[in-house]
Amino acid sequence: MKKLLYSFLLCAFAFSFINQTSAQTMPKDADQRLWQKALKIHKRAIIIDGHNDIPSPMYDDDFDLATDSRGLFHKDGDPFHTDLQRLKQSGITGEFFSIYVSANFVKNGGSARHAMDLIDVTYRATEKYPNQLMPCTTTADIRRAKRQGKICALMGIEGGHAIEDSLNALRDFYRLGIRYMTLTHNNTNNWADAHRDTPKNNGLSDFGKEVVREMNRLGMLIDISHVSEKTMSDVLDVSTAPIIASHSSARGVANHTRNVPDNILKRIAQNGGVVMINFYPAFLDERTNTEENERSKKLKPQLDALREQYKNDQQAYNTAERKLFAENPIYMPSYTRIVDHIDHIKQVAGIDYVGIGSDYDGVPFLPVGMNGAEDLPLVTYEMLRRGYSETDVRKVLGENFLRAFAQAEKVARIESRKISGEGILKKIK
Ligand SMILES: [Zn+2]
Repeated sequence: MKKLLYSFLLCAFAFSFINQTSAQTMPKDADQRLWQKALKIHKRAIIIDGHNDIPSPMYDDDFDLATDSRGLFHKDGDPFHTDLQRLKQSGITGEFFSIYVSANFVKNGGSARHAMDLIDVTYRATEKYPNQLMPCTTTADIRRAKRQGKICALMGIEGGHAIEDSLNALRDFYRLGIRYMTLTHNNTNNWADAHRDTPKNNGLSDFGKEVVREMNRLGMLIDISHVSEKTMSDVLDVSTAPIIASHSSARGVANHTRNVPDNILKRIAQNGGVVMINFYPAFLDERTNTEENERSKKLKPQLDALREQYKNDQQAYNTAERKLFAENPIYMPSYTRIVDHIDHIKQVAGIDYVGIGSDYDGVPFLPVGMNGAEDLPLVTYEMLRRGYSETDVRKVLGENFLRAFAQAEKVARIESRKISGEGILKKIK
């Protein structure tokens, strides 16, 4: 999910009373011993989160990562999930800052420029907070950040239209530090079909296949979140490196086109890739998705009227919308549903091919029990409660991603040697 508009209600005085130490939510009826064990394992682990949309408000609304974001809202009324303190409490070692380029840029131009703006804002945060953040582009960087107690700012482009159909731009984005690219957002582009748009390329076009091969050569991971099932399949046919789904869940648990179907999960196991579970309740649970769609339909006349009434006051609209939604609640799964998806992928593909891709600050709400990044230890607790070993927990939290990324780095070394070798041969001839 994505928002077109961001920012937050600047009622700073109202939130200054929030207790700075009230951090993680402990599970209801928690087994104290197990909770402490979960926190210890969580602290030791390298944790990689596949997707966080915080760069958009950082760019659009000057959101400063050091701001205490608890109780603050984006411009469209959705709550913030991330800030420096909450990231620290989350235990995340490597966060993928999403360089999200809306489909609107295709119509109006400026896709690559917008990606560069978000890359800049991410680098500037690492420059402003060098004791907490470091820019990272390799598996070695991630391990170094862990040793130094810092958070790696990794970057992934969301929406392949950002390269504006240019392999040169793709290479430049790699040089700027981009380490994965989601081939599409919800919009089909000139070379790859999306999950929620008219197919134009029967999956990947010939140029799309070239993009994948060039990403392999560079060492940029191919991300299949948001693409159509045919595109997923084409990517698996072409890619010589492991692929990822940076923020998608399992279709076998919740039948949504944003999730990865079982047949693809099995192929990802052969490919060595990772599916990183999205925490958005409508992707975690079909019932939430259905009820959310029904509610939108049912409340449309009222929402339209409110939009008209508050057309010059976004904040008042957001308050009214929140009130209306509160009066018309929908089913919300618990955070434990995240682990249902992990269980499923473990069963279908194996424990080595699943990770986490929260989609913090890109979704309007999180499962019950989870308020934001600080509550990530709940997932560790729930895995332990279900009998997962520490090794398996650590695989899910980050080791699986590290393995896939290291393999992509290795493939890049081999592929680029081959190509430079060819070049030399041609020159000699
Ligand atoms: Zn997304």
